[in-house]
Amino acid sequence: MLFFDWHYFVYVALPILALGFLASNWVKRTYQRYSQVRNASGLSGVDVARRILTGAGLSDVTIQVIDGELNDNYDPRTRTLNLSRAVATGTSVAAEAVVAHEIGHAQQDRQGFFAMRIRSGLVPAANLGSQAGPLIVIAGVLLSAFTGSTFGFYVALAGLLLFAAVVAFQLITTPVELDASRRALRLLAENGVIYPEEQDGARRMLRAAAFTYWVALFGAVLTLLYYASLVFGNRRND
Ligand SMILES: [Zn+2]
Repeated sequence: MLFFDWHYFVYVALPILALGFLASNWVKRTYQRYSQVRNASGLSGVDVARRILTGAGLSDVTIQVIDGELNDNYDPRTRTLNLSRAVATGTSVAAEAVVAHEIGHAQQDRQGFFAMRIRSGLVPAANLGSQAGPLIVIAGVLLSAFTGSTFGFYVALAGLLLFAAVVAFQLITTPVELDASRRALRLLAENGVIYPEEQDGARRMLRAAAFTYWVALFGAVLTLLYYASLVFGNRRND
């Protein structure tokens, strides 16, 4: 039975949940650890942001403090650097690593970084794909099972292609994030914010964050393979 497919839980949902838990746990633990390590410059997240933005010729980027934890981001539409309160006021190695990573995205945006432009373009398709894709696949598979028509197969195939946009989005997200982290370490060093003994901590922070993107990519691929097995497995039974 399709809706209670234990294969889905064992081979797809469970590994994704387990890896997702590991990844977020790793990020939180690393963040907590380096939140306790004061940076040698004594600058707060906002001060670090101002210094790097000025140094990188990005002074027109707005800095905004937002609620929540670890939800820091750069919004290319408004050119705003959104920093969570703990990061904005923190004087830790963790805070400066997060700030620099987000400014890495601001720099990508300014330089028209190719992968970032593709990623932005894929957002609507990925949203549609993640919401409607699975429903269309299931509708198509059911249609094909009950009517025995090939029309159902093509409906399911269309849903599958739609969901493939999610994989494409995750595929392009990974290099964008890794590049932002590389930029972060460079920006910190170039602007004299980070001291050599802090580099390792910042690198560990960014590495933990990168793992979450690999997990998201893995989850999207695994889910796509599962839907593909439904679409093509069903066809074999016809
Ligand atoms: Zn990022």
